[in-house]
Amino acid sequence: MISKSEQREAQQRAARMMRNAGIQIMDDEIEKIEVVDFGLSQLSREGVQVFTMVNTDRLAAKVLVLFPNQTEPEHWHPKVGNDPGKQETIRHIWGDVRFYVDGPDTLKEGFVVPGKDEVYRLRHEIVLKPGDQLTFEPYEKHWFQGGPRGAVLYSFSTTVRDGLDGFTDPVIQRVTVVEE
Ligand code: ZN
Repeated sequence: MISKSEQREAQQRAARMMRNAGIQIMDDEIEKIEVVDFGLSQLSREGVQVFTMVNTDRLAAKVLVLFPNQTEPEHWHPKVGNDPGKQETIRHIWGDVRFYVDGPDTLKEGFVVPGKDEVYRLRHEIVLKPGDQLTFEPYEKHWFQGGPRGAVLYSFSTTVRDGLDGFTDPVIQRVTVVEE
């Protein structure tokens, strides 16, 4: 759960970071930035800000903003009905970001959220530079983390059904409750 003011502050901060990265956002679009705490109520540690530019039943394009040291929890995109699952390409635009995927443990720059070793199992670190990109196939587990400056990323994918993503951490709820 996040408060209305926490939501508003995060939206403004994410919009500033987007603009700083050279991505335009209209003033009246800022309130459409989704502030996601994954039901964990510790937004600055585990969370993400998402600005959806388009999401049809076939494709989606989004901007993801991570604040400094903010982590998007380990997850995967499962099959839904006839849809084989989300295929997603992430392109790094600005700031510092690390991704964690299956493979040998190379975790060095980033860190596992304290006390959460059990639900952040992937330790193969990929540090992206602006202009680098990665593609995830359906079911391919991943998590990622903003570095010292945070990060602004593009996400291009097949249709998004975030509510149906799988998370390693069983207490996660993808739909964020905003307290009035
Ligand atoms: Zn993902």
